[in-house]
Amino acid sequence: MVAFGALPPYRNPVLNIKNTQLDPLDLFDIRSELSEEESMVRESVARFVDDAVIPLMREAFEQHKFPMELVPQVAELGLFGSSIDGYECAGLNSVSYGLICQELERGDSGLRSFVSVQSSLVMFPIYSYGSDEQKDRWLPAMARGEAIGCFGLTEPHGGSDPGNMKTHAKRDGDDWVINGAKMWITNGSIADVALVWAMTDDGVRGFLVEKDTPGFTAQEIENKFSLRASVTSALFLDNVRVPDANVLPGVTGLKGPLSCLTQARYGISWGVIGAAQACLDEALKYSQERVLFDRPVSHSQAMQIRLADMARRITTGQLLALRLGRIKDAGNLTPSQVSLAKWNNCRAALDIARDARDILGGAGISAEYVPVRHMLNLESVITYEGTETVHQLVIGKELTGVNAFG
Ligand code: FAD
Repeated sequence: MVAFGALPPYRNPVLNIKNTQLDPLDLFDIRSELSEEESMVRESVARFVDDAVIPLMREAFEQHKFPMELVPQVAELGLFGSSIDGYECAGLNSVSYGLICQELERGDSGLRSFVSVQSSLVMFPIYSYGSDEQKDRWLPAMARGEAIGCFGLTEPHGGSDPGNMKTHAKRDGDDWVINGAKMWITNGSIADVALVWAMTDDGVRGFLVEKDTPGFTAQEIENKFSLRASVTSALFLDNVRVPDANVLPGVTGLKGPLSCLTQARYGISWGVIGAAQACLDEALKYSQERVLFDRPVSHSQAMQIRLADMARRITTGQLLALRLGRIKDAGNLTPSQVSLAKWNNCRAALDIARDARDILGGAGISAEYVPVRHMLNLESVITYEGTETVHQLVIGKELTGVNAFG
């Protein structure tokens, strides 16, 4: 019997069906849906990830260290604040931003997290809600990778309920005095500026706190088993005094931080597909080379079902992300749509990474292969920017009109 894939390429003009071999990581040929610019962006980031990122990531993960040496190259490629127009940013569309996240996370979720925080959680709010002085001061420097930002929303007593914010800021003449603590803050100890969200008499406001401000400290969280190639910190604010000029003037209330999260969650929906693709790629190669019971284990039906299931999840995730990107570029995106994609794609990627780890048998627990690193990283990615439960409740509310959070 001849396998389907072994037939010569053939196109039936009546049925309009081809039998050419498909790309296992792109079964629905998503790449053909991309514009020339989007394809160029994807290809250049993919090359950077293959040449410069993947060779570094295993060691960075083992050493629990973010590879700072990549920052100038990421900046050179125009990946910081890539959706922003002006201020030395690339002004790309949302699909391109998604593709950037996808390719970076194929390397490691830690690097994608770094770029997401810098772009969606710090540059985006400064661009959207900042004063002209704040934009001029921070955006070009952040685009060049010369200034690093972090986003302080989560507090030690519960990130899923940001409305219960204890960090507060009080007016004192022309200044504000901030007290409180933030937990699990990506880039916290390497940031030049922290965007700290704090409760005021008028509601939540965003404050730009520079790293050397007296009373402000950032302490790295050690011994993480996930996102080890990323810096995660606790922030402490003890009577931190900042001038009124450091408040983002354009937004008051939780919609400020939540709008940033929508941007970042959008990028995550794409990013995790990259991690899942890396895992399927490894599982596919390994199962084709691993000979058990006198034949490659990929020849067994049970293995093919598992591999097919990974490809099914990746394909649905890719289609969801692309559609989401097109909706966003048309200006019609809603936060619930982002929640659905973040939930679906993180769940799919995590399940794929866990299964790929198992397909590699004992070797699957070794850092020599990528699945275990992606699997551990994705445990964070499914939790941060809204846990799976939080996104399910967002969809539940969308369907029923009832807020079940309380
Ligand atoms: P909790 O909110 O305490 O949740 C505990 C459990 O309760 C979860 O399983 C949750 O799903 C469940 N739960 C919550 N609400 C409900 C409900 N209504 N019904 C039923 N179950 C519910 N935050 C930032 O501000 N900036 C960052 O840069 C940042 N980076 C991060 C990096 C890493 C590596 C990690 C792990 C976290 C990061 N976070 C950051 C924080 C992250 O967003 C929070 O961890 C997340 O929002 C969950 O908050 P929590 O950890 O306090 O868990």
